[in-house]
Amino acid sequence: GPGGELNGGAAATTPHVLFIPSAGIGHLTPVFRVIAGFSSQGIDVSVVTVLPTVSAAETDYFNGLFADYPRVRRVDMHLLPLDASEFASEDPFFLRWEALRRSVHQLGPIVTAATPAVTAIVTDITLTSCVVPIAKELRVPCHVLFPTAATMLALNAHYPIYLDQQQLNNEAGPAAAVVGDIDIPGVFRVPRSSLPPALLDVNKLFTKQFTDNGRLVTQADGILVNTFDFVEPAPLAALRGGKIVPGYPPVYTIGPLKSHATTTKAETGGDGSQSQLDEWLGQQPARSVVYVAFGNRSAARLDQIREIAAGLEASGYPFLWVLKTTKVDREDDAELSDVLGEGYLERVRGRGFVTKGWVEQEALLKHPSVGMFLSHGGWNSALEASSSGVPVLVWPQLGDHRVNAMAAVSAGIGAWAEGWGWDGDERMVTGEEVAAKVKEVMDDEKLRASVAVAREEAAKAVAEGGTSYRNMHEFVAKLKGAP
Ligand code: UDP
Ligand code: UDP
Repeated sequence: GPGGELNGGAAATTPHVLFIPSAGIGHLTPVFRVIAGFSSQGIDVSVVTVLPTVSAAETDYFNGLFADYPRVRRVDMHLLPLDASEFASEDPFFLRWEALRRSVHQLGPIVTAATPAVTAIVTDITLTSCVVPIAKELRVPCHVLFPTAATMLALNAHYPIYLDQQQLNNEAGPAAAVVGDIDIPGVFRVPRSSLPPALLDVNKLFTKQFTDNGRLVTQADGILVNTFDFVEPAPLAALRGGKIVPGYPPVYTIGPLKSHATTTKAETGGDGSQSQLDEWLGQQPARSVVYVAFGNRSAARLDQIREIAAGLEASGYPFLWVLKTTKVDREDDAELSDVLGEGYLERVRGRGFVTKGWVEQEALLKHPSVGMFLSHGGWNSALEASSSGVPVLVWPQLGDHRVNAMAAVSAGIGAWAEGWGWDGDERMVTGEEVAAKVKEVMDDEKLRASVAVAREEAAKAVAEGGTSYRNMHEFVAKLKGAP
């Protein structure tokens, strides 16, 4: 019967894991990859689903998951209304996180009524401080999936302690701003200028969530992280050794997580762009293509986009550019020819492939024509590049990207375009700067060699007996009730 293959020993129970994902493709990606892996192994999975999503890409992604894995149960949850006027001009994804946080208590009766009984909950870091107390009340073990770098997890663990030391979040205290660098014990000092900008102001919505989650995650039963030990030894040792928070929960590194999608967006979308792209890639020389993409929610200003365009043109390399002009994809109705200016697409025809559509990035990075990746530094992207041996030039755009850039540099998987503009600052990077940096990274044989080592290590980590492989098995054994 269903799940029967799991009953290995007499004491084993059939797990039924309830996933409570957050919002944003970068947050859904690692969760869905874990769900796909579990479901393929016959583990019973339910997924809390909130529709409509913020972006169209997320809805496609949910639909793809349920189409590919029909045994995965969909549990619909409705959001309680959130008065957006309470929050001045917040990012739409942060607002969605807040709405989810204020709605998850509705899950109590759902969990209680579920058959078979829910044996474990896995939620996203952004919802942790709200989900952990519910799970405790229901006496269901609660695990957290951390969707970015272990270095960020270390910062998240340390930040509330930092505030306490500075007494910054003391309601009575006058200070509300982080004034200096943050030295994460056993990791490194994060310069003030590289912190996620919201964290500089303790009154920001994001910062309140981040602080609460950082505190409550210590009560979780375990934390899954999409990374692997080789790339982030220092933060992992610091977290596991209790150097940041004594008695921190077990940290299971399980990356690089691989895509399990069998129905690709290109197939469902069916606009033919994927086959055009494959054909174009096939015509380019080995390791010649500069792949440019800034994730799902970083959009550059128009004048900056024009400079990037000039830089790619001047670099002399073929390039593939996934271009976004808005944070939320639904709002992006700009015409490429208008965005890039008169004559640009004609001039680069054949050499430059520019698209506003979805690309299968993980697969694309494995293509032998791809020579480097100009990226915002989203951790999913950085790991996908490292497992394909593609050097990354990190141009951080917002949030955790500069911390990720520091992690990528110390891992030897990327270079960081330090000092380039980010998160609304006015510094414009010129086309000449872009071209020069791209050439520098393309010619950097030392970096290419260290990325090749990381690719080997990534493969080893997930192969039988590797660190991520063993952690995943240990975690699944725990779900099955092993002592
Ligand atoms: N992605 C993709 N195709 C696209 C855009 C994004 O496959 O056209 C995937 C990408 O491979 C990665 C994720 O979306 O797995 C982006 O996550 P990341 O953490 O890099 O950045 P974020 O979008 O959260 O800023
Ligand atoms: N994060 C965290 N704890 C939280 C919420 C977020 O550590 O409670 C981290 C996580 O790495 C997340 C990042 O902070 O990805 C937020 O960065 P960003 O502003 O770029 O948002 P995202 O791209 O993740 O949507």
